[in-house]
Amino acid sequence: MTTISEGPRSVADAVAGLDIRAQAYLDGAYVDAASGETFDCVSPISGEVVAQVAACDTVDVDRAVVGARAAFESGVWSRLAPKKRKRVLQKLAGLMAEHAEELALLETVDMGKPIRDATNVDVPLATECIAWYGEAIDKVYDEIAPTGPDAHVSIVREPLGVVGAVVPWNFPLMMASWKLGPALATGNSVVLKPAEQSPLTALRLAELASEAGIPDGVLQVLPGFGETAGQALGRHPDVDMIAFTGSTEVGKLFLRYAGESNMKRTALECGGKSPHIVTRECGDLDAAATAVAWGVFYNQGEVCNAGSRLLVHEAVKDELLEKVVGVAQRIRPGDPLDPKTRMGAIVDQTQLSRVLGYIDSGKSEGAGLHLGGARVREDTGGYYVEPTIFDAVSNDMTIAREEIFGPVLSAISFSELDEAITIANDTIYGLSAGIWTDDVNVAHRAARAIRAGIVWVNTFDAGDITSPFGGFKQSGFGRDKSIHALEKFTDLKAIWIALRD
Ligand code: NAD
Repeated sequence: MTTISEGPRSVADAVAGLDIRAQAYLDGAYVDAASGETFDCVSPISGEVVAQVAACDTVDVDRAVVGARAAFESGVWSRLAPKKRKRVLQKLAGLMAEHAEELALLETVDMGKPIRDATNVDVPLATECIAWYGEAIDKVYDEIAPTGPDAHVSIVREPLGVVGAVVPWNFPLMMASWKLGPALATGNSVVLKPAEQSPLTALRLAELASEAGIPDGVLQVLPGFGETAGQALGRHPDVDMIAFTGSTEVGKLFLRYAGESNMKRTALECGGKSPHIVTRECGDLDAAATAVAWGVFYNQGEVCNAGSRLLVHEAVKDELLEKVVGVAQRIRPGDPLDPKTRMGAIVDQTQLSRVLGYIDSGKSEGAGLHLGGARVREDTGGYYVEPTIFDAVSNDMTIAREEIFGPVLSAISFSELDEAITIANDTIYGLSAGIWTDDVNVAHRAARAIRAGIVWVNTFDAGDITSPFGGFKQSGFGRDKSIHALEKFTDLKAIWIALRD
């Protein structure tokens, strides 16, 4: 395999050096979909088809769940001593680190993010996540209830059984790891359905998991479409829980699937329209401008917590916007395979059209196009949009209300902090928010008043595996990352033993 440091190359070259796995991974082996159907895996870098991926449907989901259930009931993983599960997960993390270049290249070819980010962010963070949950699991204790001398009541956490993990395409390996780390560490079997736009790293990971010692059936990976494979998993009567990351619209479907089937537990990490507030007490407008730009243009803007609404105090607005434009102009879309590229391709033609449609709506609803606004690099055959900034946006415009999931910033000005907080909360979402201020009172007041799962002060998009991530309101419920993620993959059981005198 050629290495990343050797620099740019074509998609065809990259693919030639990769051993792409395109079948489902069931019970420890790669298999075709029962129907024999496949779908095109298109690289958004150039629009080329790079693989024919198994299009799994209800029959395959059923087979995957039967295998996962059998593995769970056998106890081969679910009843293994936590320290033994720890060793296997640590080994898996080690294998991910060994195969980091290959995984990063698969991710970039598959969904178009810069190889620089896949290498420096996605793969290391996914690896850290698996290692962290492995490391954590033999340090978690159960409880004894303080009942009284006539009883011994232990409160234990037990794995749920078969977990269906359904994940999106923007951080394919990382989102899968956020589910797999805690779900596997707690002893569940997992059926993972990657997004149809980005199945390749999940399919490769399955094999690495087997190599690390995850028993057959404990991790099943099923590529396929949302409406077929995703829905079948959501409605399956023998799936105990769905751990979902994706859009709010599809998150609501999973609630319906659960209600219409077996009332499976459902944890939803959904969309966002995060406010990024810059107050007049902000002491470092350069730092704020850099954070504002990267907070919405990183990963082509395909980030659930993107700071897509800039709320800026009218007194500093012009100066800040000029600085944001300065940063944005240096973030040009380029060849994702070039290690120098900072912005890559939009994941597919559908998403490209969606983003361009929102840009049109911004123009037609009267926002001022301040920067960008166009598709670029069309000659490559790929899907690229330049960083785009709208000024004079009001919070009732479509571009301020709906999640664009592309490199589009909407700037809204305010005159009083209370007004900024009202606008910040005037959304169906509540995933994250940022505020820049040197006034500690403003920082505290805003942080508590904004309804969001994470509020950053004088930074944006900072994260750590130790810190929980997830939303308020229609951004979902349940938390990924941190020790708290273990809770949603387990059930509490009280064991009451009456004691005789
Ligand atoms: P999506 O909701 O379209 O798809 C997500 C997953 O659901 C995919 O695997 C897809 O195949 C599946 N799916 C789609 N339709 C389905 C259906 N009818 N039934 C069952 N499954 C179905 O989302 P996307 O376009 O892949 O990703 C973008 C979305 O993900 C954005 O809204 C973004 O905010 C969100 N996201 C949230 C977080 C978070 O942690 N909150 C992180 C990343 C992405």
